Amino acid sequence: MTCTDFLSKMTDYFDGEVEPELLTEIQSHLAECDHCEILVDTTRQTIRVYRDHQVFELPNEVRERTVARIMAACVKH
Ligand SMILES: [Zn+2]
Repeated sequence: MTCTDFLSKMTDYFDGEVEPELLTEIQSHLAECDHCEILVDTTRQTIRVYRDHQVFELPNEVRERTVARIMAACVKH
């Protein structure tokens, strides 16, 4: 799995809608990729903040900004 693969599945991952097999791949990617791990942490915190305010959807703007930052870091590998 690459960072791009992960990013394309990230929404499903947070929705808990990934197959067990894919989940394993995602978890092993997160274990070896600091950038994606940080992205997951950041997104989780953001989701929690929005949930507290009764807004469940992660705003696209926030997600796009975060994803762009992580992708910029990832391509340096
Ligand atoms: Zn990654």
